[in-house]
Amino acid sequence: MFAHSHQMSISIQPLCDICHQRPRTHHICEGNTGESTNFCDACFDAAAPLTVRTLLAASRDAYCNFCNAQPCSGGTDLLALATGVMQTKQMCPRCSVEYNSYIQDQLRDADATLSQTEQIAALRTLNVAADTHMKQWLRANESGKDI
Ligand SMILES: [Zn+2]
Ligand SMILES: [Zn+2]
Repeated sequence: MFAHSHQMSISIQPLCDICHQRPRTHHICEGNTGESTNFCDACFDAAAPLTVRTLLAASRDAYCNFCNAQPCSGGTDLLALATGVMQTKQMCPRCSVEYNSYIQDQLRDADATLSQTEQIAALRTLNVAADTHMKQWLRANESGKDI
């Protein structure tokens, strides 16, 4: 009897905020401002992957801070995570493993009674020590090259 309601919804289908031509299929909400933008497929493809592409380009251009040989592929810098202040290092997987195991060894012996400020100071010192360790490790590695 009232089965015609879906015909109404076609005429009021919301359009893309960018081109105002195609129906919106994507909804992006800014958490901080509460503002939201609606995109059609085409405008979403044009807008959203830009961030993704920038990130990909950045990681493609980035080389390992230590051996400079391999592009970084998601090496984790424990120290940057711990302090949240230092710049994250770009590391290839191989260096990342060595670096983080060195850091973990040092942290195991760390004094747990230090204040947070003292801990960060200690981590900064450790950051320098780890860089030195990595240089020595790479030099040792080069003398027994297996490539
Ligand atoms: Zn559009
Ligand atoms: Zn490396």
